Amino acid sequence: MSKTDWIQQEIDSLKSQGLYNNIRTISSPQGAWLTVDGKKVLNFCSNNYLGLANHPALIAAAKKATDDLGLGPAAVRSIAGTMNVHIELEKRLAQFKGVEAAITFQSGFTANLAVIPALVTKEDVIFSDKLNHASIIDGCRLSGAKIIAYEHNDVKSLEEQIKANLSQYRRAMIITDGVFSMDGDIAPLPDIYEVAKKYDILLMVDDAHGEGVLGNGGRGIVDHFGLHGKVDVEVGTMSKAFGVVGGIVAGKSVIIEWLRQRGRPFLFSSAVTVPDAAACLAAVDLLEDSTQLVDKLWENAKYFKAEMKTLGFNTGVSETPITPVMLGEAPLAQQFSRELFDAGVFAMAIGFPTVPQGKARIRVMISASHSKDDLNKGLEAFKNVGKNLGVI
Ligand SMILES: *Cc1c(COP(=O)(O)O)cnc(C)c1O
Repeated sequence: MSKTDWIQQEIDSLKSQGLYNNIRTISSPQGAWLTVDGKKVLNFCSNNYLGLANHPALIAAAKKATDDLGLGPAAVRSIAGTMNVHIELEKRLAQFKGVEAAITFQSGFTANLAVIPALVTKEDVIFSDKLNHASIIDGCRLSGAKIIAYEHNDVKSLEEQIKANLSQYRRAMIITDGVFSMDGDIAPLPDIYEVAKKYDILLMVDDAHGEGVLGNGGRGIVDHFGLHGKVDVEVGTMSKAFGVVGGIVAGKSVIIEWLRQRGRPFLFSSAVTVPDAAACLAAVDLLEDSTQLVDKLWENAKYFKAEMKTLGFNTGVSETPITPVMLGEAPLAQQFSRELFDAGVFAMAIGFPTVPQGKARIRVMISASHSKDDLNKGLEAFKNVGKNLGVI
């Protein structure tokens, strides 16, 4: 027996249960079409909502910044000084989102690991939506605070948990995803805000899938609901609609100032590179200049969902461009995904434990980079595979 035998056994077990994740290799730029494992396929997988991951304006900004300022920041910002491009990005993000201040992190994941432990600790309590993202769950665990999960998007359940538990703790925080990535539903933020206000609890929303998607010109869920100044902490990412990489925390300036002193991923890990930050700045420019890409995204999403319903597919409860195609059991979803790939469409099957048992699905991610013709090709493939497998 070697020390690592157990790992091989676990891997073999995943494979025998059909739960082993075979990761495909992409050899083209991101866009409506990809070269995946050597084959040209229609891309229904990525979070590149606005097509910015390969946008000429972002590429040009990254190149110019690299020529001017080089690549890496070479140390953590709090020790060796912070580069102007990161500061400029934070100013512009705050303006774009209509908040007092913003701070950037290496990713949305590290933004959650930074902000939650900086605001609550082991004497405190977190009320967390049951379906919150893994990085929120990890941030909550790191904080040491008591975690109380309330029923998904259920404000009554949230208030019941608050009433039953709040008095036993020093401080409290409510945390919800803005858009839930597996179903595409949106948190009832105005009602959650009313509860947060009533009990005077800090409110945080993780708007990773809403940034660049929801609200006027992609300003996010707080703008979508007109809740400016009412949500204490907005977490976001620049790895999805922004097409680059990096996390955001936006909100009251006192919270952002505190994160520059106590956000551990800020204090102990370097920032995103210069070309990343410059490309994100170019993304903000594009979004401020025009709502055209965001409008196209929604037009595409509405068209695709309506056509899928007409074909007889169940697209769940999505209110966003995330389009789950509900299939039931995981093996069916996996076979559906394989047959789509053979038909030239790249769309991933998602099963347990990412979604509940019996709720396996194909998740289609619609983008502004899809043309009407692309969407029609995708619909045709779904129709053929759906008929072939007896789904429709
Ligand atoms: C994708 C996602 C993240 C992680 O964002 P990265 O920038 O890719 O690390 C965090 N929270 C939610 C809700 C997400 O959907």
